[in-house]
Amino acid sequence: MKALIDKIKTAGIAVDEHVLKVDSFINHQVDPKLMGEIGEEFARYFKDKKITKVFTVETSGIAPAVFTALVMNLDLVVLKKNTSKILSGEVYQTSIYSFTKGVNYELTLSKKFIDKDDNILIIDDFLANGQAALGAVNLVEMAGAKVGGIGILIEKTFQDGRKLLDDRGYETYSLARIKSLKEGMIEFED
Ligand code: 5GP
Repeated sequence: MKALIDKIKTAGIAVDEHVLKVDSFINHQVDPKLMGEIGEEFARYFKDKKITKVFTVETSGIAPAVFTALVMNLDLVVLKKNTSKILSGEVYQTSIYSFTKGVNYELTLSKKFIDKDDNILIIDDFLANGQAALGAVNLVEMAGAKVGGIGILIEKTFQDGRKLLDDRGYETYSLARIKSLKEGMIEFED
């Protein structure tokens, strides 16, 4: 998606060869016009998939996911990152490893907000090693519901996430694909 790629070129910062900083337009300061365009694009791409709800992982997926859900006229569910297990039986939980924080946490979904007939669109800001997206997939599967697609703003193709999601048979649509962050340079896939 040209608007996102242009923004990454002007405002993204390659912190090191693994991490791209996007805090001026996605996850600290937010560019609402760009998030609106992203919402339109995901809604266009997934329009025939009979999606019933949009899911994202807190917190940096929330801005683009809100706009996607708004354009699709669907509810948005924000999956929570808890540091300890809640054993009340009212939630689905799965353990995932955070790429940016280097810690494990329990990704949590209240049973109230999913039904076995749901067909979920998962939206997240980054696809790195795929743990966040796979965690979301696991929670949907625990509820007996379906994943209708996965929409990612920025995929880092030099990490393993895409392969893991492909191996599980899910369709992943990324708006910007980065092949390298070496030496402070942001290189995109063609
Ligand atoms: P994964 O679970 O795919 O390894 O990582 C996905 C999560 O880690 C995303 O939700 C995102 O918040 C964070 N993340 C992964 N790579 C980056 C990165 O290069 N920059 C930033 N800002 N966050 C990232």
